Amino acid sequence: LFNEQSVPNWLEQRAFLTPDRVAIKTECEIVTFKELYEKSKERAYQLKRIGINKDDHIAVLMKNSIEMVTTIHGLMLIGAVTVLLNTKLSETELSWQIKDVQAVKMIYDESFQERIENINEIEKFTVHMLRLYRNGTAEELQHCLMLNDVATIMYTSGTTGYPKGVMQTYGNHFSSAINSAINLTIQADDKWLVVVPLFHISGLSILMRSVIYGMGIIIHERFDARLTNKAIMDEKVTIVSVVTTMLQQMLEQLGKDNYPKEFRCMLLGGGPAPKPVLEKCRDKDIPVFQTYGMTETSSQIATLSAEYSLSKLGSAGKPLFQCEIKIMDNDCRCAPYEEGEIVVKGPNVTNGYWKRDDATSASIKQSWFYTGDIGFLDEDGFLFVLDRRSDLIISGGENIYPAEIEAVLLSHPAVKDVGVSGVEDEKWGEVPCGFVIPSESVTESELIEYCKKNLASYKTPKKIFFVDHLPRNAANKLMRRNLRLSLNGDNNK
Ligand code: ATP
Ligand code: MG
Repeated sequence: LFNEQSVPNWLEQRAFLTPDRVAIKTECEIVTFKELYEKSKERAYQLKRIGINKDDHIAVLMKNSIEMVTTIHGLMLIGAVTVLLNTKLSETELSWQIKDVQAVKMIYDESFQERIENINEIEKFTVHMLRLYRNGTAEELQHCLMLNDVATIMYTSGTTGYPKGVMQTYGNHFSSAINSAINLTIQADDKWLVVVPLFHISGLSILMRSVIYGMGIIIHERFDARLTNKAIMDEKVTIVSVVTTMLQQMLEQLGKDNYPKEFRCMLLGGGPAPKPVLEKCRDKDIPVFQTYGMTETSSQIATLSAEYSLSKLGSAGKPLFQCEIKIMDNDCRCAPYEEGEIVVKGPNVTNGYWKRDDATSASIKQSWFYTGDIGFLDEDGFLFVLDRRSDLIISGGENIYPAEIEAVLLSHPAVKDVGVSGVEDEKWGEVPCGFVIPSESVTESELIEYCKKNLASYKTPKKIFFVDHLPRNAANKLMRRNLRLSLNGDNNK
């Protein structure tokens, strides 16, 4: 019944409830919720004028900005489905996603003109072009939204294969915001800093929370460690969402300084959280909340709350209030500490992938979503994420998780970045090998010795390859399957 309910459009309701609160601050602009609503209405009229209708799929290729926010809200105000495209995608990847999702129009930033020049199967509009269109009446707007309706289609990062379009409903986004608030609480002075992209669920979910909670946010066009630290120091930021590489850069830039007391949550997600980084934060009293989530769960599904940040260091926490997590192995539920696939359930979890019934039925069974990630629960129900099932290395019958070895190598002072992958081996089937970008001079045997001290011998990389870059996708995630490929390529030479 809940999901069949129609509720007031979130921005409209927020502008009615607390019009004068600051909604968004950027490097050059401040807008209240009332102003944001006015701007978004204007955008909605423009979108109508160019012929966008309810339920149309509209691609958005924009950088973090108020224009991007008003475009998203504008599309929601006319009931269109927003398809947020990763701005780092190549022309071919963009073209594939636009076709796959059957988008009819695209709104883009002028700066991407060249990248999309040859994409002709869709009508394209810059914000500048939209401004030529004016006028509209309130009757044209969708003042209510249905929680069951698809609000956004967001593609997964494509770390393990082709990206899949995840259908996220209004109900998914709403539940995500509410469950995050039950866990992290909402405080009157909260200000969430957005340095992650709005086209990714980590960023979009902050935008949704902002209108649902009535919370001010600060948006940066892109991540810069110094500016991020500066905003936390000077702008009374209380929460920021980051991924590991961002946190590492921030720590480096921070040096001996520390964050102010009001700063209460460094929400760290999106990928493995290496223990050495967590320990460094613990030593500096930086309030890191490790979280686990994915595009399919419309952001967090589990988060480690502050009171357990020390005693359960390394865990991604317990499920959010309305969510459940179980670990499955061959249709059997695993006991505490037994490793298996992480399977999740909750009102924030997608109903499926766009036009991918095969992938949907492979991952959703009796309303449980099979994540493809491996992990375990401890005796208290805390989740520990080990790695992706597809990256698992099986060596002489033992399971090896690349993330664990990467964390050890990363803690070596001469290692700047690293990826670990399995390489075929006659005796063991597969053995782990490290691909290292060094930051200073170091030898293969030094690194192998270092691993031996910190890891069981079967987990110690048998070879270290020094490389000058690692294969990362547009979300900056390591594509481990390509590490091996690059090696095969080398061998063939
Ligand atoms: P694709 O599904 O196309 O391969 P992707 O899974 O990388 O891409 P996202 O939805 O952006 O796309 O990422 C979610 C994934 O990120 C999770 O399934 C998990 O593998 C990883 N991840 C997220 N949080 C954590 C965490 N705390 N620890 C380890 N891994 C995490
Ligand atoms: Mg995935």
